[in-house]
Amino acid sequence: MDTISGKGFSFVKRIYVPRILGKTVGMLAVTAALAPTEPPIWVWVLMLVNGVLWPHVAYRWAMRSHAPYHAEQRNLVIDSLMAGFWAAAMQFNPLPSLTILSMVTMNNVAAGGRPLVQRGALAQASGMLLGMALLGPHLQLHATDLQVYASLPMLTLYPMALGWVSYQLATHLAEHKKRLSDLSRTDSLTGLFNHGYWKDRLRRKFLICQQRDGMAVVALIDIDHFKTINDTYGHVIGDRVLRHLSTELKQSLRETDLAGRYGGDEFCVIFPKTTQEHACLAMERLRERAASYHDPELPELRISLSIGLSAFHGDFADSEQWLEDADRALYNAKRQGRDRVDVAKPVFTGLRLAWPE
Ligand code: GH3
Ligand code: MG
Repeated sequence: MDTISGKGFSFVKRIYVPRILGKTVGMLAVTAALAPTEPPIWVWVLMLVNGVLWPHVAYRWAMRSHAPYHAEQRNLVIDSLMAGFWAAAMQFNPLPSLTILSMVTMNNVAAGGRPLVQRGALAQASGMLLGMALLGPHLQLHATDLQVYASLPMLTLYPMALGWVSYQLATHLAEHKKRLSDLSRTDSLTGLFNHGYWKDRLRRKFLICQQRDGMAVVALIDIDHFKTINDTYGHVIGDRVLRHLSTELKQSLRETDLAGRYGGDEFCVIFPKTTQEHACLAMERLRERAASYHDPELPELRISLSIGLSAFHGDFADSEQWLEDADRALYNAKRQGRDRVDVAKPVFTGLRLAWPE
């Protein structure tokens, strides 16, 4: 919520309609309780101003303020002051008075917690003193049937409106949280998982494979001579190549495969429940698609990929070893002349196979 920062337009907007509703149904209760006391005419005028005009004045006042959030809190304190005044004007008729006082207190709890409740309670007490000073201290403890019925809309509709506002706020916050969470795990250039999140997934996948004797393959993909591409065509073209490759990657993988940008010109994939052969075929296809890259504006620009693969096996102590194994395969692919897929063989066997020969 944009609050203490001095903003808070959405806060003001959220309160606008419930205040209109609250004041309208509140007027019903106040009218029924005031009528038998035969108050001076200015009390009726004040009720109309407070019930009809005030919600709009409060809204514009807060929206024009430099700090709408604080301005709206001030408006809520004024609501409390007026609620105290109306309680005294209604001669503390229990049902309408308590209904109005508890509704504004509920507002204060929802909008500002304890500090606002305390300020609101002070304002309510001041409003009561003001009401008693202007209209005399009277007590009317008996509520007529009409006064009971006139309080019912306030007792039912207003809590529903406040509940609706709280629900909307909770939904809004949940969406906000999801957006932040997506952002925190996404690489901004390519839209793939970022390094940190992908490594988390790798650690989880490693533990699952270890516990269930599972099958999975890790691939590390590096663009060959990417520095030369940057140096020759500029970083904007370099970025375009990175984005193109990430699109190819997304298109050529299954939903369950987890692709990330490891960093710079290096990408990474976890293939769950996949054999080494299948992962190898998928990466071969990717390598071929990358090799057929064609930019009409730069027909001479070519890209090739070196890819290292490592299948999970129980001898890895942790996910880092698994990754190092894939990195060794990638290094091998580079050493053997680039533009190829190399499959790691378990280190302890001392064997390595290049793919394709
Ligand atoms: P090799 O075949 O050995 O992989 O050679 P290389 O030139 O690809 O090697 P290196 O890893 O040194 O080059 C990676 C380059 O990627 C260096 C860096 O300037 C560039 N780079 C890293 N991040 C970005 C990026 O976000 N955008 C662009 N355009 N370039 C980047
Ligand atoms: Mg490279």
